Amino acid sequence: MGFSGWRVLKEGLTGNRGWGAHWRDAAPKDAYDVVIIGGGGHGLATAYYLAKNHGITNVAVLEKGYLGGGNVGRNTTIVRANYFLPGNSEFYSHSLKLWEGMEADLNYNVMHSQRGQISLFHSDGQRDAAVRRGNAIINQGDDAELLGRADLKRMLPYLDFDSARFPIHGGILQRRAGTARHDAVAWGYARGASDRGVDLIQNCEVTGIDIEGGAVKGVQTTRGAIRAKKVAIIVAGRSGQVAAMAGMRLPIESHVLQAFVTEGLKPCIDHVVSFGMGHFYISQSDKGGLVFGGDLDFYASYAARGNLPMMEHVMEAGMTLMPMIGKARVLRSWGGIMDMTPDGSPIIDKTDTDGLYIDCGWCYGGFKAVPGSGWSMAHLVATDTHHEPAARFRLDRFRTGRGLMDEEGTGSQHNLH
Ligand SMILES: Cc1cc2nc3c(=O)[nH]c(=O)nc-3n(C[C@H](O)[C@H](O)[C@H](O)COP(=O)(O)OP(=O)(O)OC[C@H]3O[C@@H](n4cnc5c(N)ncnc54)[C@H](O)[C@@H]3O)c2cc1C
Repeated sequence: MGFSGWRVLKEGLTGNRGWGAHWRDAAPKDAYDVVIIGGGGHGLATAYYLAKNHGITNVAVLEKGYLGGGNVGRNTTIVRANYFLPGNSEFYSHSLKLWEGMEADLNYNVMHSQRGQISLFHSDGQRDAAVRRGNAIINQGDDAELLGRADLKRMLPYLDFDSARFPIHGGILQRRAGTARHDAVAWGYARGASDRGVDLIQNCEVTGIDIEGGAVKGVQTTRGAIRAKKVAIIVAGRSGQVAAMAGMRLPIESHVLQAFVTEGLKPCIDHVVSFGMGHFYISQSDKGGLVFGGDLDFYASYAARGNLPMMEHVMEAGMTLMPMIGKARVLRSWGGIMDMTPDGSPIIDKTDTDGLYIDCGWCYGGFKAVPGSGWSMAHLVATDTHHEPAARFRLDRFRTGRGLMDEEGTGSQHNLH
């Protein structure tokens, strides 16, 4: 089933009765060339690029719940490429380029909106750091612009510029950054993979990983055993638990991150805006809701719901930055489980078990990474070589201490990244 302007017009005039299912709901076969554990954004994108870039289509994606029900459908949808350190910088740059071609490539409207993202700074020291980051972004080939107070007053008049505690000195704007409709990204990749022959199997939890003689042989699931030549673990917040099925102890802690959305309002926030003196970031959805989030909950947990102290913290930060938000009513909030690494950067690598691969550690920045991660992970699984932009995402950096990418400079405490 393809999408086009004509098709939308025709369906609109004929009662929308011609639309079909977006993907096949497959039943598991006995064996596959590749089994992907996890039907989130990264798992589905990996399946899609395995099929599209490498012609590997005897692939199953096993999802314990429903496709897109994990973090890919729970995030605040921010897409950007403004990382500072080598390793992250080239990876996210590649990923943003894939975002820019995604809708045409998938023939799917993911509502990718390059509305610009502004990171505010509030002191001379933060200005220096922002300029340094901006130069690194430009050196990578991406865009960054330094904005002063006057620019911001014009662009973001609703901010509290007179705050004595956190005065706004300026910001860094990335015009190519923005947002996308998160679950549509999962659906688009699912549809593209399914069209190319990949089996998408929902309600199928992996409960064990079969290993013989140091090589992976398949997986045990709630829908029976499935043999596989290669298995990829791509389960975000459940990475530690699933890797343990293969006898691995990952350098990952799982923490909850919450998001909030208000009632629909008339357009008032045109960009993505990030506070520089606390964790608070906000944009406005196409339905009008203000979508915002903050820091991780204060303790590790597998409960995909948030706690009240963090909710209070986020509301306070929002009120400090833009007091007008106090007039809006919050409609919904939810939580997702983040796979936090000790340096805050991800892992795309082989494991010590032949044929077993892992893609995890995206912390709370993995939505923007979906296309890049899928592309690089598919490359690794298909060719057994690292894709250049993701070549530094090695698992053994936590064993050797070499190649750590501490983007925030906060040290080896998972929840501080
Ligand atoms: C509140 C919030 C805000 C965020 N904001 C942003 C943002 O603005 N920008 C950004 O870039 N990133 C953001 N993120 C992070 C981003 O959403 C994640 O890093 C990313 O989605 C994780 O990858 P994924 O999509 O593959 O994960 P998921 O969608 O969680 O996919 C993993 C899947 O694995 C499945 N699974 C787990 N165990 C098993 C098993 N045993 N068997 C089978 N399946 C299993 C799960 O059910 C799940 O569907 C945010 C996250 C949250 C929660």
